[in-house]
Amino acid sequence: MRKIYYFLIVAILIFVVGFFGIRNTSVQNFFIDLIFESQLNNQDKLVTFEGDYIIGLVCGSRGPLPGKGRAEPCIMIKTPDHMFIVDTGDGSRQNLINWQIDLGNLDAVLFTHLHSDHISDLADFHLYSWVTQNREGKLPVYGPEGTQLVTEGITRAYELDYEWRTLHHGEEVAPSDIAGFDTKIIDLNNPVIFDDGSLKITAFEVEHLPVYPSLGFRFDYKGRSIVISGDTDYSTNLIEQSKNADLLFHDALSYNMIGRAEDISEIIQPQLSRVFYDIQGYHASPVEAAQAANEANVKELIFYHLIPAPDSFIAKIIFVKGVSEVRPDNWTLADDGTIAILPVNSEDITITNIE
Ligand SMILES: [Zn+2]
Ligand SMILES: [Zn+2]
Repeated sequence: MRKIYYFLIVAILIFVVGFFGIRNTSVQNFFIDLIFESQLNNQDKLVTFEGDYIIGLVCGSRGPLPGKGRAEPCIMIKTPDHMFIVDTGDGSRQNLINWQIDLGNLDAVLFTHLHSDHISDLADFHLYSWVTQNREGKLPVYGPEGTQLVTEGITRAYELDYEWRTLHHGEEVAPSDIAGFDTKIIDLNNPVIFDDGSLKITAFEVEHLPVYPSLGFRFDYKGRSIVISGDTDYSTNLIEQSKNADLLFHDALSYNMIGRAEDISEIIQPQLSRVFYDIQGYHASPVEAAQAANEANVKELIFYHLIPAPDSFIAKIIFVKGVSEVRPDNWTLADDGTIAILPVNSEDITITNIE
């Protein structure tokens, strides 16, 4: 009985001190400092990897259909000296900021194609690699023909934003001469778009009609390799370009799930039903992606750009139905934050989550 009495006294004291303390300016300042210091001191999670490696980080794992807790397509490729972002779907920049990844070292953005779910965060990637950062020039953006419409359009739309930030913070903090984009249209007659002797990036065509061209990218770094499919149906060219790669990120659309969504929406929302019908024609199913990975002799396969984004344990099982019969092992269904680490001079591929 006495114990309960003491416990109640202590609980009331804590409540009273807390209630009045949190209204005290000094206590508030203490908490404000704590929050900002912890944010500013947070170390970029990617710089903690030691040694020489290439990593692929899924900064967005869903397609354009809604998916709880997932951003639209985005994959970061990083080596100790370079950082590239392949596609900038909605929510992907916020993911990277949440993971305290410093975009000041961003070399370039690469677009696989210009569907909205692949480009919508570009303006924010520009801002976060510009103000207070060390970018040496305008943000390079590589992409297929038409990319200039996107970069010029954003530059026009953000003209006043750029002006005001430089006016407000000064040239040191927001240098006006590097605001905007350095657009590089990819010509598949010269498919190697970057090569510094260690890291080579090769673009190639995939199948996503009526979108043309739609691209995939292969990254080769000191004997390790990562291929990103972009949006594609089952593609023989992708298989050719992925030959013996260590890791393939492949888009995937569940025909089972979207087929049923098409049937269900036919009466309720016929226009939506038409969309569900159409999209089955230009994305590979998980089983087709697994077949492609097998034919290319790829070591590890990660499904991303998931349509629909499987939210629950049960949805995930349904989504990958049939995959294990085709490819029993060495595949992973991506979440936002799924990260693959490939050290050089090694056969290892570690797949984990950054969070
Ligand atoms: Zn897409
Ligand atoms: Zn697309």
